[in-house]
Amino acid sequence: MDNRIKVQGIILSVMPVGDYDRRITILTKERGRLSAFAQGARRTGNALLAKTQLCTLGTFYLYMGRDNYRVSEVEVLDYFTDFRVDLEKAYHAMYFCEVASYFTRENNDEREMLNLVYAALKALEKGVLDRTLIKAVFELKAMCISGEAPSTGECVICHEKKEKRVFSVEHGGMVCSDCAVTKPGRFMELSESAWYAVWYIASTPASGVFSFKLSDAVLAEVAAAASAYLKGRTGHEFKGEKLLEIV
Ligand SMILES: [Zn+2]
Repeated sequence: MDNRIKVQGIILSVMPVGDYDRRITILTKERGRLSAFAQGARRTGNALLAKTQLCTLGTFYLYMGRDNYRVSEVEVLDYFTDFRVDLEKAYHAMYFCEVASYFTRENNDEREMLNLVYAALKALEKGVLDRTLIKAVFELKAMCISGEAPSTGECVICHEKKEKRVFSVEHGGMVCSDCAVTKPGRFMELSESAWYAVWYIASTPASGVFSFKLSDAVLAEVAAAASAYLKGRTGHEFKGEKLLEIV
């Protein structure tokens, strides 16, 4: 009897184990994020060697070992081979995987996050959009999917729709200028175009969100807001973001 389970997903992390093995984390459509042991995956000539690399998209056949999943077979749908020769792309991909890993859990419905990771990797691979834009969109959309979408339509303090507004990481998005003067904290000035971009990212499904360009000036605003929002709201230092500073 075949007691294997079949899941579709993307490899978010790869760790060497012992001399020849690997532990991989897969963000799956069916079971959220799970980790699995790939025996012999670092041996030359092993079928799993090329199929258990970071960002590999595929169908994974797993079986339950004594206390963890073990990889039996992988049917690869996309290797994203570009990322092995372009360091800047590779670092972006690693960062997206790290952020997605941070937000996801086993047996949760993580399909929208999986869609986001896939769309971001595809955008990176195509190379049409600025990488700073891909990063900013990814950061904001990951927050939205995790239930932390920044408010863009009304002030988070007085709940009124007002024209003059500033962006607040601490309060969760839009704060009107009247409320901002009464509250301590750091507020970011955003142009109307930048507000529109944040709204667009929050209200567009992950699979279609990498579909616009911004002027350099607006991109700089959105990128600063997105990075501050992710870091500030999670309180987490992502190692991958440090790496991006050096490429
Ligand atoms: Zn207000």
